[in-house]
Amino acid sequence: MPAIKNILESVFGRPRAGMFPRCRPAGISISFDDSYVDEWYCLKDLFAEYGATVTFFVSNFDLLPEKSIEKLKILRDDGHEIAFHGLRHLSAGKFIRENSLAGYLEAEILPGIDAMARRGFPPATFSYPYGVRAPYIDDALLKYFKHVRAVACTNSKKRLSGLKQIYCKNAGGLVFAAGIDNIYGNSLEEIRDALIKTMGKKKTILLYAHRPTSEPGDYCTPVPRLQAVLEYASECGLKFLRVRDL
Ligand SMILES: [Zn+2]
Repeated sequence: MPAIKNILESVFGRPRAGMFPRCRPAGISISFDDSYVDEWYCLKDLFAEYGATVTFFVSNFDLLPEKSIEKLKILRDDGHEIAFHGLRHLSAGKFIRENSLAGYLEAEILPGIDAMARRGFPPATFSYPYGVRAPYIDDALLKYFKHVRAVACTNSKKRLSGLKQIYCKNAGGLVFAAGIDNIYGNSLEEIRDALIKTMGKKKTILLYAHRPTSEPGDYCTPVPRLQAVLEYASECGLKFLRVRDL
């Protein structure tokens, strides 16, 4: 695979003074879902190496052991965002169908916000468990959050570079991210091309993952893949943004 530096030079010419500031508006927002605090914490030095700040959307916050809370504090002090992914990781659509929107807020959202706030992590953003959403749920949640993050999926015809929703500029409350875990089938080459496209469009690309690990698994992202994404993003001069910064 040719280095990004060579590709950029073939498109934009050799780097020259004043070139990077033109690229500055482009960014990348990487987020992680669920409760994999130990695995996220292991990436602390890797993120620091690239000056990357990311967002961790935490579910079941109130069940985390104290040592996980301490790790989240350290990650937050490093500049990362600790955000909300539901008190019990409920599927919003299913729960609301069987109960009510008010019941969903009372069972899943408000106690979770409260649990986080009481430990010093008042969440500013939310990501939907299972990506299940609807406009009326967005509206209800955006009374409590600056942004709600949904998901956009690639398929055999629509690949990452064609997934318009994940390239955002002047984000409204609802934002979309594409997955980089094994199950989503987005190759490193496609991710790299998407980052180059992001740079050209001066937008921010949103990507998300769950468990960074070298173990196999659908909802796992191999650490070398993640490191390659950080490397490509840095080479493209993409600014690392937390979801709350969008
Ligand atoms: Zn989840």
